[in-house]
Amino acid sequence: MLLCAAGETNLQALKYARASSIDEAIELLREGGPAARVLAGGTDVIVAARERRLDVDLFVDVKHVPETAELSFDATDGLTVGAALPCYRIYGDDDVRTHYPALVEAISVIGGTVVQGRASLGGNLCNSSPAADSIPAMIVLDASANIVGPSGERSVPVDEFCTGPGQNVLGAGEFVISIQFPAPSSASGAAWQRFTPRNEMDIAVANAATSLQFVGGAVASARIAIGAVGPRPLLVEPAAAALAGGPLTVDSIAAAAAASRAAATPIDDMRGSIKQRRHLAGLLTERTIRDAAARAGVTAPEAPGTSEVRR
Ligand SMILES: Cc1cc2nc3c(=O)[nH]c(=O)nc-3n(C[C@H](O)[C@H](O)[C@H](O)COP(=O)(O)OP(=O)(O)OC[C@H]3O[C@@H](n4cnc5c(N)ncnc54)[C@H](O)[C@@H]3O)c2cc1C
Repeated sequence: MLLCAAGETNLQALKYARASSIDEAIELLREGGPAARVLAGGTDVIVAARERRLDVDLFVDVKHVPETAELSFDATDGLTVGAALPCYRIYGDDDVRTHYPALVEAISVIGGTVVQGRASLGGNLCNSSPAADSIPAMIVLDASANIVGPSGERSVPVDEFCTGPGQNVLGAGEFVISIQFPAPSSASGAAWQRFTPRNEMDIAVANAATSLQFVGGAVASARIAIGAVGPRPLLVEPAAAALAGGPLTVDSIAAAAAASRAAATPIDDMRGSIKQRRHLAGLLTERTIRDAAARAGVTAPEAPGTSEVRR
């Protein structure tokens, strides 16, 4: 464990502790109490502390806990991503690129190259921003967060993890050690997209992801999630229900897009209006359905006269 304090007059005095095991991290968080914060890449939490938006007294750095730096893929058990592993390590992995392209799409636009050198999947999840780019991708890929804390271990599906803006299911002293993704099934595909006026260094006006599995040309199962259009990233079950059980048709895709528009409860802000965000929730749903189908080897039908809008 390494402990140090910085106390210059115009800066906030903070303690820093580096945990090298799960038990040590749990103990440090227990000792630090409510003003102890988990530190991974620091791209959210250091900014928030500097701007005094967070009451932080102690950073507990979990990057050196071996389980938070794991990255492993198995064709049966799926993918385990350590919670503190930076984005570039994840999207640079051949297995992730081959089997989880929707995750790669989402995390390779977080911030920019410099941010991706530090920003982690666990940090994106635990920061629990409604606009977090990785969360809709994790939701449709049916990922679960492996959580440890004073009462032991538990696993929570990512679609149940966030409870509101900046809020989640983590209890006192708990932290995420890894995120578990099931192995992709055969004839399946997933895709993620976002809309933002700038390519880098801005968060989403809206984002969406879809995963589809086909059996005999029909959609056997679907998952659709939307983000930045409500208080938390949302699994839209009615959108998935509009697709499941039959082949993709122009009408079923339009019904799924309409379900996403109906599920969206966006706010107006400087990035976009309520009307625009609702529209985007539907549009990105439709586009990710088409991309997910293509990845599963299925061509989604186009409505007659449809012209592709520039992405
Ligand atoms: C310039 C810039 C651009 C950005 N652009 C985007 C963007 O395009 N899309 C986007 O989604 N985000 C963006 N972000 C936000 C940020 O980079 C991401 O949310 C990032 O993934 C956070 O990861 P981190 O490792 O830096 O988390 P940290 O800042 O270390 O932590 C974030 C929060 O999660 C908690 N935490 C971290 N790890 C754990 C854990 N294992 N268990 C429990 N709690 C934990 C921390 O206590 C803190 O509350 C941007 C940030 C910056 C500075």
